[in-house]
Amino acid sequence: MRTRANTDCQQLIFDGVGVAAGIAIGPAHVMERGSLNIPEYKLPRKQVEAEVERFQSALQRSQTQIETLRRKTSALPPAVAEELGFLLDAHLQMLAGSRLVRGVEQRIRENRRNAEAAIQAEISEIVRGFAELEDSYMAARMQDVRDVGTRVIRSLTKSNLQEFKMAPKGSVIVAAEITPADTALMDPRDVAGFATDMGGVEGHTAIMARSLELPAVLGVPDLTAVVRTGDVIVVDGTSGRLVVNPDRVTLQEYRNRRSRLLRQRRRLDRLRGVTAITADDARIALHANLELPREIDLAIASGAEGIGLLRTEFLFMNRETPPDEDEQYETLRVLVEGMKGQPVTIRTLDVGGEKLAYSLGDHMTDAVNPALGLRAIRFSLRQPKLFGSQISAILRAAAHGPIRILLPMISTVAEVESVREVVARMRRRLRRRGTNIGSEVPPIGVMIEVPGAALAADALAGVSDFFAVGTNDLTMYTLAIDRSDEQVAHLYNPLHPAVLRLIQFSAQAALRARIPISVCGEMAGDPRYTALLLGLGVRELSMSSASLPRVKQRVRTLDLMASTRRAEMIMDQADSGRIETLLDEFNALE
Ligand code: PEP
Ligand code: MG
Repeated sequence: MRTRANTDCQQLIFDGVGVAAGIAIGPAHVMERGSLNIPEYKLPRKQVEAEVERFQSALQRSQTQIETLRRKTSALPPAVAEELGFLLDAHLQMLAGSRLVRGVEQRIRENRRNAEAAIQAEISEIVRGFAELEDSYMAARMQDVRDVGTRVIRSLTKSNLQEFKMAPKGSVIVAAEITPADTALMDPRDVAGFATDMGGVEGHTAIMARSLELPAVLGVPDLTAVVRTGDVIVVDGTSGRLVVNPDRVTLQEYRNRRSRLLRQRRRLDRLRGVTAITADDARIALHANLELPREIDLAIASGAEGIGLLRTEFLFMNRETPPDEDEQYETLRVLVEGMKGQPVTIRTLDVGGEKLAYSLGDHMTDAVNPALGLRAIRFSLRQPKLFGSQISAILRAAAHGPIRILLPMISTVAEVESVREVVARMRRRLRRRGTNIGSEVPPIGVMIEVPGAALAADALAGVSDFFAVGTNDLTMYTLAIDRSDEQVAHLYNPLHPAVLRLIQFSAQAALRARIPISVCGEMAGDPRYTALLLGLGVRELSMSSASLPRVKQRVRTLDLMASTRRAEMIMDQADSGRIETLLDEFNALE
């Protein structure tokens, strides 16, 4: 919501969905909707040859993409296959040493232009030549040149993070939409925060923002139409407010608040070495959620006693081809060794829904309703080779420290049994190869994130070594509210009695089966909910590293007996507003 009209440099205030706490202040860097943002810069002389190589790698990647498309044409009706085949062959020829390629290399070398700008300039020149011919065949060739050029530019910008890299250090990224894969490319040392037109509170983009500790506000309609690159922008990720071109007084207020938050943060950092123990002496395990292996340092610094959720799908993003078994093993080994004997819970691939990985393009098909489609474990079980290589990599990593295997989006006992068979088969194969995989089969647990899984928790407990409750999806599927859709963000509420009953039901089933249960959805990282989750019987919480100190502080002040009594009272309520009040009152008392 905008509260004032836009005129040059006038202060504008917008309210959106605050998804990652903190305050960022910096120049806006607006990413254009739909169009290619083509960076343009002059190269230092000594970088010229490296730039030619970067261009050649992009050509090769584009070639691989077109060859893959070419193979796919065989499944099409013959006439279409032939037409498309001609077109793709023409594109392949252009990539293999055409006037376009020669011209671009010349521009990089002679004008010291970056590859993207050189491609753009070369296309313009070729197109000018064609335009004079006024011939429909030539017009089609002109489009071919444009298409090929665009493909190579996309390959260059995607693979090299040019969009974010082009932003001056400390910028606030403003975009129509930022995908989870985009977020994975952001380096918090370079980017101050971000704001978007679209996105909801528990989407993966929001989760990534919290993990990277990047203040973010999502779901501000038309933001990109109003903000311009270079405008000063304040992102208040706590309240969800954006201030564009703040006046002097407002800017100072936000600067003061930012300093206060930093001081608070430093105080919390002192809790790192202390144990998470309630006032009545119950020991609680606080673990970290990781999306990217590079976050391990943050996890250790936060005092996490293990990794409660590694979202491996991020290893498959922002690359042309999926990582093979060896590469996955290496990444996991470094992580497991880095945790020095503390448990690492590795969740198998959870792609689909809003989490897309173009390296899996060949394997993934469009779904009518992606959130209900071939997502997560359903996808893995349909891709035996891909899944087998991930399981093998995990089993090999298990030789280096304690790991647990976690399965996403389980809804049936049969799915868990199928995975157990794959694990047994892969272990036999690795043994035959003489690979060290340790003596024990790692514990295999399931995510409780589909209402049906919660309701069948007793049956699932019979085939599982542990449960991890994914409250993000559990809330989404229980209430039928897309977690990443800003239009229904106001209805998304994990305190809905239906969601709480499913958590309670799962906790009781785990207790009866004597298996551990953790919560690793975003609820676990919000200190407002800590007393309730512990009161419902959960003793392990896994969250983004940034949230861990505040949750630890909350654990240390609360009384588990009193929390259990309050949870019982809450479970008798029918209205989420009343539940919220009871919880807030309890939190204020402690
Ligand atoms: C969840 O659904 O709560 C969860 C932890 O998994 P993800 O957010 O990766 O879907
Ligand atoms: Mg989930």
